[in-house]
Amino acid sequence: MPEELPQLGRETLHEWSTLSYPSLVKELCSLFIGPELIPRDDLNDLIDRAFSRFRHREVVHLSRLRNGLNVLELWHGVTYAFKDLSLCCTAQFLQYFLEKRKRHITVVVGTSGDTGSAAIESVQGAKNVDIIVLLPKGHCTKIQELQMTTVLRENVHVFGVEGNSDELDEPIKTVFADVAFVKKHNLMSLNSINWSRVLVQIAHHFFAYFRCAPSLDMHPLSPVEVVVPTGAAGNLAAGCIAQKMGLPIHLVVAVNSNDIIHRTIQWGDFSLSKAVKPTLASAMDIQVPYNMERIFWLLSGSDSQVIRALMEQFESTKSVSLPKELHSKPSPLLSGSRLCSQVPGGCAGCQADPG
Ligand SMILES: *Cc1c(COP(=O)(O)O)cnc(C)c1O
Repeated sequence: MPEELPQLGRETLHEWSTLSYPSLVKELCSLFIGPELIPRDDLNDLIDRAFSRFRHREVVHLSRLRNGLNVLELWHGVTYAFKDLSLCCTAQFLQYFLEKRKRHITVVVGTSGDTGSAAIESVQGAKNVDIIVLLPKGHCTKIQELQMTTVLRENVHVFGVEGNSDELDEPIKTVFADVAFVKKHNLMSLNSINWSRVLVQIAHHFFAYFRCAPSLDMHPLSPVEVVVPTGAAGNLAAGCIAQKMGLPIHLVVAVNSNDIIHRTIQWGDFSLSKAVKPTLASAMDIQVPYNMERIFWLLSGSDSQVIRALMEQFESTKSVSLPKELHSKPSPLLSGSRLCSQVPGGCAGCQADPG
């Protein structure tokens, strides 16, 4: 994540407000990926290619329900997971650099469901990439298992393993901790901590805002409330970044019974629960929400030293009581709520804030 986030003024927001979703992604990515890395025409092509297999012509669609309630449909990708959006772009960026540098890599991912299928879809058939997916047997839905095991491309390798998705993280962590091994085999991960995935997801929040805000001519701009179902806090971190860039959204976090983010935001209780509780929304059955580190960093005013100490303490004791300024009670940035379970599908509801 860059040290300084770009700030968008009213004029830019105005310009962006009528853009299509893919055009928004292009504008946004070009703020973070300079032409010396990817020239703008190439960047546009990569993003068009990323969305070429989506079923909806708008790629992302905002559905209007009653009483000012809206649903942002992020599920029109091949695997129906909202991860298709950010992973397809990330995979295109990745292939661009691999091609340029004549290199090959092997992606290794563990999955609790949606990540595996979406990661496979994003790189299936790619020349310079092989993908190995560890699939926790009995912990994914039948559809997800089939999505992962029926892609008959030579670069896709799926293994069924015992244990849940957090247990599966352990051997993967061990592999990535062995720097020499990783180097020798050109391994990489594509999990939700990947910055490029977070980057693309920032566009979801801009798109939602522009479609929901009553008008862009008000002073100050009227806020929109965005409800984000969350697991690893990737999409949530994207929302916080959008907000820091000047988008007037109010974020509400929705979790299932794996509620560490809810406890953190509500009471500053950033502590691991005893075990993952399996729910209907397996993509949200996550114990350690890695992207919270980014959110703490934003809330701390980019104080890397404080956040490093905090995360080190969390690593060793699995429990941190946050200082006041790092959770939401006094902060307008976030509020949380715990839902008993959540319908799978990766939607974010958004609503024009009446107050
Ligand atoms: C991955 C996923 C989530 C969690 O997303 P994060 O950005 O990691 O919080 C929530 N819902 C669905 C359907 C998902 O696939």
